Amino acid sequence: MDKTDVIIVGTGAAGLFCALNLPENLTVRMITKDEIENSDSYLAQGGIAALRNSDDYDNYFEDTLKAGHYKNNKVSVEVMIKSSPEIINELIEYGVDFDHTQDGLSYTREGGHSQYRILHHKDITGKEITSTLLERVREKENVKISEYTKMVDIIEEDNICKGIIVKNQHKELEALYAKIVVFATGGIGGLFKHSTNFKHISGDSLAISIIHNIKLQDINYIQIHPTSLYSKEMGRRFLISEAVRGEGAVLLNDKGERFVDELQPRDIVASAIKEEMKKDNTEFVNLSMKHLDMQTIKKRFPNIYKHCLEVGYDLTKESIPVTPAQHYFMGGIKVDLDSKTSMENLFAVGETSCNGVHGQNRLGSNSLLESLVFSKRAAKYISNNIKSIDYPQVKIDLSKYDYDNLKSKYKQLILNEIKRKDKKFYEQWCNNDN
Ligand SMILES: Cc1cc2nc3c(=O)[nH]c(=O)nc-3n(C[C@H](O)[C@H](O)[C@H](O)COP(=O)(O)OP(=O)(O)OC[C@H]3O[C@@H](n4cnc5c(N)ncnc54)[C@H](O)[C@@H]3O)c2cc1C
Repeated sequence: MDKTDVIIVGTGAAGLFCALNLPENLTVRMITKDEIENSDSYLAQGGIAALRNSDDYDNYFEDTLKAGHYKNNKVSVEVMIKSSPEIINELIEYGVDFDHTQDGLSYTREGGHSQYRILHHKDITGKEITSTLLERVREKENVKISEYTKMVDIIEEDNICKGIIVKNQHKELEALYAKIVVFATGGIGGLFKHSTNFKHISGDSLAISIIHNIKLQDINYIQIHPTSLYSKEMGRRFLISEAVRGEGAVLLNDKGERFVDELQPRDIVASAIKEEMKKDNTEFVNLSMKHLDMQTIKKRFPNIYKHCLEVGYDLTKESIPVTPAQHYFMGGIKVDLDSKTSMENLFAVGETSCNGVHGQNRLGSNSLLESLVFSKRAAKYISNNIKSIDYPQVKIDLSKYDYDNLKSKYKQLILNEIKRKDKKFYEQWCNNDN
């Protein structure tokens, strides 16, 4: 029998930070579906928000609530903001290199933030944070990581989680028993035709939760980003930041006409683009920056400029095709402030969980912070309570499991649940998009 104290499913920022905050006398097994570096945490560009000083508390709180359409859980927001200085210090101690000015840490601002409170490392903050956490985890002798190992189910008895079933790197089914399981499986982008997420991040733990009657929350709160670079190819979509529209880029339809005020909130711009595409029967609209100063484009958006050039578009001379894309999942597996789910000995952290912190819409740069704050709280709770849990005794007959067509079964389960919750959203963004 393969027995571990704690299994963490997912090696993004949430899973890694949870592992780092567990005591070294616990055996920890981390698994990931793909190679370790392929998590959405690596893709975060903008940065990580943090409370700069106590004077900013009320503004930060209000900005988060306003972005979330006031549907947020206020206690979760309070915990996240108040924990942020401690989390940032911990990251710096681990070796994360945030950008500095002569006076100290350099803070930037994004849409929805009334103050400069976002820490960053160039425009690759997620990679800097996640790769540093991974290096620290690799130094831990109590943590073992298995790549290309996919969780396909949990082992459950009377609403108590006792481990997981995986398809390992040899494509064999295996039962892994544990006192505690932590889902850190990220969002649901893989279910959508257009998403900025990695394709393999497709909400497996949500489908498993639906099957095992684990409570979900706000599963229809899904953020659609108005502008990703259109491509006919399968796979992840490249994000064209809204800062580009902020600098004056305009959206044009098939006839070369503007059709929306580009500076309206994300959901309004995304819906207008979708409507225009439907009218013109096209798969994209165009985003033009040709009228902007060439040096501004190159200096302000070096990565976007470089990427577009690589795939054949020179932003200074031509417009680029863009389409809305699924970007972030605010809903998820319902958890409390210690990231406990409705099933005993099962926790959920990061984007796959929902403690209500983002409400209906995430404030930019709050998601990395949320992942770290609440995965640390999970680790603390587990450390304090695991003594009272015995190793599971249950025996599993793997031959009774039928895992054929699992991917499409799981996808359908989640999409049906979204439809049940919010038919309008489903029809606009899920129905014809898949
Ligand atoms: C393009 C982009 C830009 C972003 N920019 C920012 C930003 O600037 N600031 C910010 O705060 N946030 C940003 N975000 C959001 C942020 O990156 C994520 O919300 C956050 O990193 C999620 O972390 P996570 O650990 O929960 O999940 P992830 O980092 O997505 O990790 C999920 C892990 O689960 C594994 N997994 C999934 N299913 C299974 C399974 N069945 N079995 C085994 N393993 C599985 C995956 O392989 C992966 O290791 C951005 C996201 C994207 C896509």
